[in-house]
Amino acid sequence: MAAAAPTHLSENLDGSGPGEAGGPNSPVCLIVLGMAGSGKTTFVQRLTAHLHSLKSPPYVINLDPAVHEIPFPANIDIRDTVNYKEVMKQYGLGPNGGIVTSLNLFTTRFDQVMQFIEKKRQNHQYVLIDTPGQIEVFTWSASGSIITEALASSFPCVVIYVMDTSRSVNPVTFMSNMLYACSILYKTKLPFIVAMNKTDIIDHSFAVEWMQDFEVFQDALNQETSYVSNLTRSMSLVLDEFYTNLRVVGVSAVTGSGLDQLFVQVEDAAKEYERDYRPEYERLRRQLAEAQSRKQLEQMERLRKDLGAVSMTPSPGEADMAGPSDLIITRSNPNNDEDSVDSDTDDIDHSATEESKENDSFGNFLKERKEVVQLRNRKHGMPDVP
Ligand code: GDP
Ligand code: MG
Repeated sequence: MAAAAPTHLSENLDGSGPGEAGGPNSPVCLIVLGMAGSGKTTFVQRLTAHLHSLKSPPYVINLDPAVHEIPFPANIDIRDTVNYKEVMKQYGLGPNGGIVTSLNLFTTRFDQVMQFIEKKRQNHQYVLIDTPGQIEVFTWSASGSIITEALASSFPCVVIYVMDTSRSVNPVTFMSNMLYACSILYKTKLPFIVAMNKTDIIDHSFAVEWMQDFEVFQDALNQETSYVSNLTRSMSLVLDEFYTNLRVVGVSAVTGSGLDQLFVQVEDAAKEYERDYRPEYERLRRQLAEAQSRKQLEQMERLRKDLGAVSMTPSPGEADMAGPSDLIITRSNPNNDEDSVDSDTDDIDHSATEESKENDSFGNFLKERKEVVQLRNRKHGMPDVP
């Protein structure tokens, strides 16, 4: 059984062998997102089988700590590192808190995951990432952003938004689902594909028609009489632009239909990453590196200024003045340091410290939760959780 808190990460070496059709040196990461029950896990299973049959086994990562069983061989499984039930118990959390906390704990080790993928980058054309059932756990959490950004700054990344087509036949529900997809597109800032899943139950052509022809969607809406339909009418105008640039593929994770078209779209999306997104991620990476080296330069500069304030070789008559080392000591007051931070480096530092702030508060949260649980246990005469 894995410990509640992660100690080290392990890679399941029997997950898959080296691929023959590995990319030159950069696998494409497919991050699979979607509402609970939309079919993400089944879809990842189908993709894995499909790629194996093409002699290009993917590198597969499961990020759902609460899944009972995964139907595919995973190279990295969050459940090997974090025991979700144990997390719930130790920190006195309910199922949702347990999932979020498990993902946070795992994220603190994501640098190791990155190293594992880096090591295997020659062997795999694709990295598949299955995410927690509840979409918001990943898309609206700090850990989801950290993981996405870590992956996207090293590999071409594409988001595949899995949608349950059979549950989107109502125009208002369809609209809500598309609004959600739209918000995820803006949140993840990555090339995006909508996989309309479960086409074995219902063909997705009705949805494509709704997206292409506003009139047809309006007709469908006219069957609805609720006030929601008015709102939906206005919203669909807003979504029009989102639709025009959207990649949509109908698939069935159960039968495997539509996968060839999906990979055509994936290739196109990966090109889009190279063209439009990579420069941005590289700029981000450079900015972070520059911010760091600028900080060091500033410290050096400050030191030099301090040293320059007095002559290094005291002239006759100056012998009684303070030497440079005295000056540095008096100036190394932390309050002075804070005051002298330039405002132009300020905005860069914000993004760099955002995560560390999150980490701090997450650490405090864990500590507090543990204390609450210990107290409660003692009150009920139960032993302390280790
Ligand atoms: P997740 O929560 O998004 O990971 O969804 P799952 O992969 O666990 O699937 C939820 C349910 O939908 C399961 O009962 C699957 O068998 C079913 N399912 C997934 N994909 C398909 C599909 O393409 N067609 C049909 N008919 N059912 C599917
Ligand atoms: Mg799942």
